[in-house]
Amino acid sequence: MRRTGIFFAYYQGERLKDFPEVLDGLLGKINVLYYDAVYSSRNGLYYLEPISEQLLLKVHSQNMVEEVKHTGDYEAALYSVGGAVQAAEEIRQGNIDNAFVFTSFGDHHAGKNFYGGICYFNGAAIAISMLKEKGTRRFAIVDTDSHHGDGTRDIFSRDGSVLHVCFCHQDYSDNYNKVDIQIPYHTTDEAYLAKMKQVFIPRVEAFKPEYIFWEYGYDTTSGEYGDKGISRDCHIRLAELVKGVADKVCEGRLIAILCGGSRRDVATYTIPRIIATLAELSNRF
Ligand SMILES: [Zn+2]
Ligand SMILES: [Zn+2]
Repeated sequence: MRRTGIFFAYYQGERLKDFPEVLDGLLGKINVLYYDAVYSSRNGLYYLEPISEQLLLKVHSQNMVEEVKHTGDYEAALYSVGGAVQAAEEIRQGNIDNAFVFTSFGDHHAGKNFYGGICYFNGAAIAISMLKEKGTRRFAIVDTDSHHGDGTRDIFSRDGSVLHVCFCHQDYSDNYNKVDIQIPYHTTDEAYLAKMKQVFIPRVEAFKPEYIFWEYGYDTTSGEYGDKGISRDCHIRLAELVKGVADKVCEGRLIAILCGGSRRDVATYTIPRIIATLAELSNRF
C-alpha cells in the first residue's frame, strides 16, 4: 500500500472551505501522512513549511520575486509552492510514496520572469530544480488544467530532461519532450481519458522519469470557468491512470498539485477521492 502525504495550508477563498474537515475519513489511515501549515499536532503528524527565497531564485528572477512581495500574497505563495517542494523531499527521503499538494497561488502560469492567473511561483519547477541538485535526472509533468501551462513550458522549454505533456487548446510537440494535446470544448469523459491513455501514458513509459508531477486543475469540469464538458468522476479516473503509470515506471513517485478550478462542490467531491486513489483506499465518501 502506498504512503500518501497531504500538504495543506489554510488559504482564503471559497473552493477549499470544506477542507481539511472533509478529509477526516482519510487522516486516520496509517498510510496517510498529513502535513499542516498551522497545526503541527493534528494527528500528531507533520508541519508544512514555507519555501525560502533562496529556493525561489533557482527558478524565478529576482525582479519577479520582488514584484510578488508587493502583491500582498507573498507569504501565502511561499506556502503554496512549499508544499510541492516538501512533498518532493519527503518522497526522495522515502518517508512517503506520493502526495497531494493543496495550493492557492500556484502553479503552472508562473514562468521564469512572469506570473499570471494568480500563479505567482511554480512549485513543480522549484521541486524539480531541488531534486536535480540532489541527483535526479528525469521528470515528467502532466497538466490536466483546462488552460495551457505557459509558465511551466517557459521554464523547461529547452530542457529535454523534463517531459511536459499539457492538455489544453492546441496540438504541439517538439524535440525537447514538450507536448500539447488539444482538448475541444464539449468533449466527453471517454474521449479525454482516451487521450491520456493514447498520448501521455506511452510517452511516459518510453521516457522513464524518476518522478511524475500532475498539475491537477479541475476547471475543465462542466459548469466551471474552463469548462471542457467532463464530469467530476472523470478526474478520479484520471487519477487512477496517472497513479497507474507512476507505479509502473517510477515506483509510484507522484506529486499531484492543485491548479485551477473554482467550485467548492467539485473540490469537495474530487480531492478526497483522488487522495484515496493515491493511497489505495476505498473512495466511497
Ligand atoms: Zn486553468
Ligand atoms: Zn498546453
